[in-house]
Amino acid sequence: MSKPKVGFFDFASCEGCQIELTNFGDVAFLELINHIDIVEFREAMSEKAGKLDIAFIEGSFTRESDRKRLEEIRKRSAIVIAYGACAATGGINALKNHQHDYHECVYGKDAKAPHLASNIALPISAAIKVDYSVYGCPMSRDEFIRIVSHLLHDKQPIIPNHPVCMECKLNETICRFHDGDHCLGVVARAGCGAPCPKDGIPCEACRGFVSTPNVDSLVKTLINKGGMHSSRAWNKSRMFTNNQRGDVK
Ligand code: SF4
Ligand code: SF4
Ligand code: SF4
Repeated sequence: MSKPKVGFFDFASCEGCQIELTNFGDVAFLELINHIDIVEFREAMSEKAGKLDIAFIEGSFTRESDRKRLEEIRKRSAIVIAYGACAATGGINALKNHQHDYHECVYGKDAKAPHLASNIALPISAAIKVDYSVYGCPMSRDEFIRIVSHLLHDKQPIIPNHPVCMECKLNETICRFHDGDHCLGVVARAGCGAPCPKDGIPCEACRGFVSTPNVDSLVKTLINKGGMHSSRAWNKSRMFTNNQRGDVK
């Protein structure tokens, strides 16, 4: 691909992935931007572009009014990449999908104000076709650079679809369950290098699940080996993953 025209767009998010991306201390990222032409990026410029080779979209689809904007971006973009958990899986925003009083809880007496209306949080793939996803909360800058670099070289990016446990084993990390802790790495999507268990912290599946996770088995393991009550185990399973199954307490 010759120097592609790219745009960055944001929806319901904390914009942490954009911050991660624009942390310009990274030499690899500085090198990357020499090979792309950034023509639309609300955080950094006011210009609007026409046709795009690649649209990078951050944030969840959580308002019906955003559908038109997503469709408009899709229409003018050859490739759409969802970056960050919010865009790729619904992310942490999707926790509200199980809390029916979230509007009142957050906005109090203003909860019914029209400009605060929103639906459940979904990945942007619920509204438009997504070609690739960069997972993680925040997304991994290394993975972002790798995916874009593959596209620039007309190579098909490889998105990991194996569990974090495999990377954890390669690191020779002692399993969190052996320390009486819990962990979601058995069904979490790898690609991060399993830094959390390596630091003695459970994997919370910030990269979402692999494509066919055995969530029942995960929850059973969290109950039987992690010592959790069923409702906590189910709640754990949806922290970043938009898992819509299970009991809600
Ligand atoms: S994925 Fe995480 S860091 Fe990125 S925008 Fe969403 S909440 Fe923020
Ligand atoms: S610590 Fe977590 S990711 Fe590592 S082997 Fe155990 S369950 Fe898997
Ligand atoms: S180990 Fe789990 S929580 Fe940590 S970065 Fe990887 S997927 Fe996210």
